[in-house]
Amino acid sequence: MFSSAEIGIDLGTANLLIYTKNKGIVYNEPSVVAIDTTSKNVIAVGEEAKQMIGKTPQNIIPVRPLKDGVIADYDVTAQMLKEMLRKVSKKLGHSLRKPSVVICVPTGATSVERRAIHNAIKEYGAKYVHLIEEPIAAAIGAGLPVEEPTANMVVDIGGGTSEVAIISFGGIVSARSARVGGDKMDQAIIQHVRREYNVLIGERSAETVKIQIGHALVDHAEETMEVRGRDLVTGLPKTITLSSTEIKSALKESLEQILEAIQETLESCPPELSGDIVDQGITLTGGGALLKGMQDWLASELDVPVHIAQDPLECVAIGTGKSLKMISKLQKASK
Ligand code: ADP
Ligand code: MG
Repeated sequence: MFSSAEIGIDLGTANLLIYTKNKGIVYNEPSVVAIDTTSKNVIAVGEEAKQMIGKTPQNIIPVRPLKDGVIADYDVTAQMLKEMLRKVSKKLGHSLRKPSVVICVPTGATSVERRAIHNAIKEYGAKYVHLIEEPIAAAIGAGLPVEEPTANMVVDIGGGTSEVAIISFGGIVSARSARVGGDKMDQAIIQHVRREYNVLIGERSAETVKIQIGHALVDHAEETMEVRGRDLVTGLPKTITLSSTEIKSALKESLEQILEAIQETLESCPPELSGDIVDQGITLTGGGALLKGMQDWLASELDVPVHIAQDPLECVAIGTGKSLKMISKLQKASK
């Protein structure tokens, strides 16, 4: 007899992670699928598919089904989920038979989208599927005492969206989901390079620039970096040198939108809980938390302590997995 596996899934707009109770994070790859447009078959998922972005022949297209923080394509999302579960299952042997699954969905997901995700996992053969709100998962993964009566604030900056929430007694007291995150920053870098240099660079290059020399709106020692693209005048490949100062100004608008979402959430916080936030501070999760200077910039703008979670990219997946333990405890208790 196989005992049924318990897994947590973080279906992020940029990355999909799978966490199992016994083995921790067993899958961590980009939320990308490569599709053959002639046969409509999925050719590759995850890292392999991401490598194909901007490089594939015309009949193979890499798709990010969750790109703007919404599930743009249910079918592709469902196929991606099943393919990833299959991959993990193969890696772990039969241990993923009829799993109990907790999956994290973005706050902005509609009920139709939630149902589509739920069904896709059920179709894979899950015995039990539970959906959890992203900020709660992020808070649990960051080790915050979510079930206590003190309020905690989490800001999860992902690829497509930034989720801001105040949590108390295990529930969301106040939240905002802003359609801005790492992707918008990458696009801003592409536009900047196009405008200033007449050079077109790819999304992956823009992301590398952001990670290497991108900074939040803080003073810093200037860094430079070379990047290659296509000269829009001559049509030929061209190498240009970018400075961290110009990249900082390209990121300004996205960063201010994130700040605004945090300020609005703070303003709508019940006064009884405001004091807790001032004491506890704000916890940053998601890949955007890793942008250089983010913590210092937000702390100075908001005048509240800001912490970065220990593994910002893994927080949500860890939190979904841990929430499972809490859910099964509750179920046992009710038996
Ligand atoms: P999602 O939950 O939407 O899948 P993630 O939390 O996985 O998103 O974060 C992915 C985003 O974080 C991407 O836009 C990526 O470029 C960005 N990111 C990852 N590492 C860094 C870094 N060191 N600096 C800035 N941005 C980063
Ligand atoms: Mg996420």
